[in-house]
Amino acid sequence: MSVRQILTVGTPSLRERSAEVTKTQIRSPMMRRLVRDMTETLAEAKGIGLAAPQIGEQLRVVLFDVPEDNGYITGGQELARTICINPEITVLDGRTEGFWEGCLSVPGKRGFVERPQHIRLDFLDLAAKPRSMEFEGFLSTVCQHEIDHLDGVLYIDHIANPELLMSEADFNEQVE
Ligand code: ZN
Repeated sequence: MSVRQILTVGTPSLRERSAEVTKTQIRSPMMRRLVRDMTETLAEAKGIGLAAPQIGEQLRVVLFDVPEDNGYITGGQELARTICINPEITVLDGRTEGFWEGCLSVPGKRGFVERPQHIRLDFLDLAAKPRSMEFEGFLSTVCQHEIDHLDGVLYIDHIANPELLMSEADFNEQVE
């Protein structure tokens, strides 16, 4: 296992579309290594989500690890230690709500982003089995943030008003 370097904004590959993962790749040692590295890297960074391109692997793989006690999870929703391969989002309700987002690839910053708050997430698990989950609220935002990474999109791209992007220090002082 190894903790990998997390690429930050300004790295060209973070802006590229990542490739679909084949079923052969899912069952390969490469995928087991990637999942182990992503798990270690996310734990070390104390983050709640990590996409493979954030560690320089241009594959459509996302890891979520939202702790159950983060204060946002309601109605039995859970997104703890979940690997999603080739994930796709379907918006079930287009009404948006905003959260102050942060990103391991945009260190020291927070930004307020509005996104649809009720989605379905379809993906393949590590056994290449199709899975489907529905999320509302904060978890809906987390899913969209991570899956954006697979298309080379960062949360800062969604911020039109510069006042809604600030340093973490200002955020801690003014918002929390
Ligand atoms: Zn991110």
